[in-house]
Amino acid sequence: MIDAHGRELNYLRISVTDRCNLRCHYCMPPEGVVPKMHEAILTYEEIVEIASAAVDLGVKKIRLTGGEPLVRRGIVDLCINLAKLKNKGLEELCLTTNGSLLSKFAEPLRRAGVDRLNVSLDTPSAELYKEMTRGGDIEDVFAGLKKAREVGFTGTKINAVLINDFNDLDLRTLSEWTRKYPIDVRWIELMPIGEAAEWHKESFLSCETVLTVIPELEYVGEKGVATLYRFPDGKGHVGLIRPLSHHFCSTCTRLRLTADGYLKTCLHSRGEIQLRGLSGNELKAAFRRAAADKPWEHHLNERGVSDTIRYMNQIGG
Ligand code: SAM
Ligand code: SF4
Repeated sequence: MIDAHGRELNYLRISVTDRCNLRCHYCMPPEGVVPKMHEAILTYEEIVEIASAAVDLGVKKIRLTGGEPLVRRGIVDLCINLAKLKNKGLEELCLTTNGSLLSKFAEPLRRAGVDRLNVSLDTPSAELYKEMTRGGDIEDVFAGLKKAREVGFTGTKINAVLINDFNDLDLRTLSEWTRKYPIDVRWIELMPIGEAAEWHKESFLSCETVLTVIPELEYVGEKGVATLYRFPDGKGHVGLIRPLSHHFCSTCTRLRLTADGYLKTCLHSRGEIQLRGLSGNELKAAFRRAAADKPWEHHLNERGVSDTIRYMNQIGG
């Protein structure tokens, strides 16, 4: 699928549930957002049908996300069925998780054919982690990362959202993990969406802060949405993902499927097309229509807030 601006749309992110076992302050209100009824969420059969159509149309990479994908029952079976799409052109099946249940799931996910994991961890501090996630235990994430390594996952990425007066003092500590381990730590600018849409401007930091705090980082190059750096003796990379300060819309290859079956071509746009109920040529035509209408860019900087009214846990990040 090529959009009206010549971008090849080959990456589909699928939110498999809007539910989550954590309540990160920037993502969800303390009581959580009202979860969709079971019937409102795509069945696994529907997800596979939609993903299969997307692969027919040129999608090469699928990422499962949420909410927390590992809280949905039967997630491993879904991965097994999505991995079968590698027979018809899918190149990579990935999953983004908060890591809290990863020690239990790493091995079955690996066997199911998941290629790579992103684990969200905003701080290396147990207390701050508990505070930011409203109750999460960082030891669970550490155990998950260890298990993932043991069962053969490579190229695991740690994603950390950069927040002023929260984890700005952790920049160096977390980044230095890439000296010891062959992992990438990627700093992501906090976006004004979901709960963070209401946050004060002071909470938002540019990723340039990372380069100020760690001046010895050496530029490596661009990879997807990230600009990569490394410590001179680093085993992995420190990545900067800058949707606000250096937005990467002109190279965006992404499509997003919400847990309730809507296709979004831009995280921050209100535009979405319902795919539920469509199949065969109708489904493919809907993909093509959406691709043709993909917005050129988001307007976070001008408007100060995302246009979408959905929460991140519904879209999947
Ligand atoms: N529960 C999983 C997790 O936390 O990795 C997957 C879903 S979560 C919505 C996906 C990613 O979105 C996480 O890395 C999270 O930190 C990020 N995220 C949520 N709200 C955000 C915001 N306002 N700005 C930037 N990133 C955000
Ligand atoms: Fe849950 Fe992920 Fe949102 Fe945190 S960022 S509340 S782990 S969905």
